[in-house]
Amino acid sequence: MSEACCSATRTDDGGAKCPASAFPGKPVDWTTVAALAHGRVPTRQEFRLCRDAECDVVYYGSGGTMLTADNLNVQPGFKAGSDELVCYCFLHRKADIERQLRETGDTDIFESIKEEVQAGNCACEVRNPSGRCCLGEVQQAIRSLRKELAVTA
Ligand SMILES: [Zn+2]
Repeated sequence: MSEACCSATRTDDGGAKCPASAFPGKPVDWTTVAALAHGRVPTRQEFRLCRDAECDVVYYGSGGTMLTADNLNVQPGFKAGSDELVCYCFLHRKADIERQLRETGDTDIFESIKEEVQAGNCACEVRNPSGRCCLGEVQQAIRSLRKELAVTA
């Protein structure tokens, strides 16, 4: 059947959205998923990350594997009810940035992470659920907190 043939070539589009929330996911290396999963490693497949805060699913794979935060060694900071970790290597939470901004009007968390990254001490590919460096997210969190708290640089 030609329909089956066509739909087979479209599996990537289907796989791009979280099966639970229909939220479009970003590709994540299998190595990252394998490093963060409890127990035995999931079968090698194309994994994506669901960043929808309200969705329980963190990773979903082209082979049908789905992992929630309960299946992982880390609680992703972008999920509702988490500790709101923004840096998974040096364990900075959004609340840490907020406290610094409230108490001192400034924060050195971005700079301190940057120094560690430059020193080669970060392991985002196996610590950060996105498998990517956290600095972009940290910067974004600082920017929105500054606005929220009306603290300018
Ligand atoms: Zn989802």
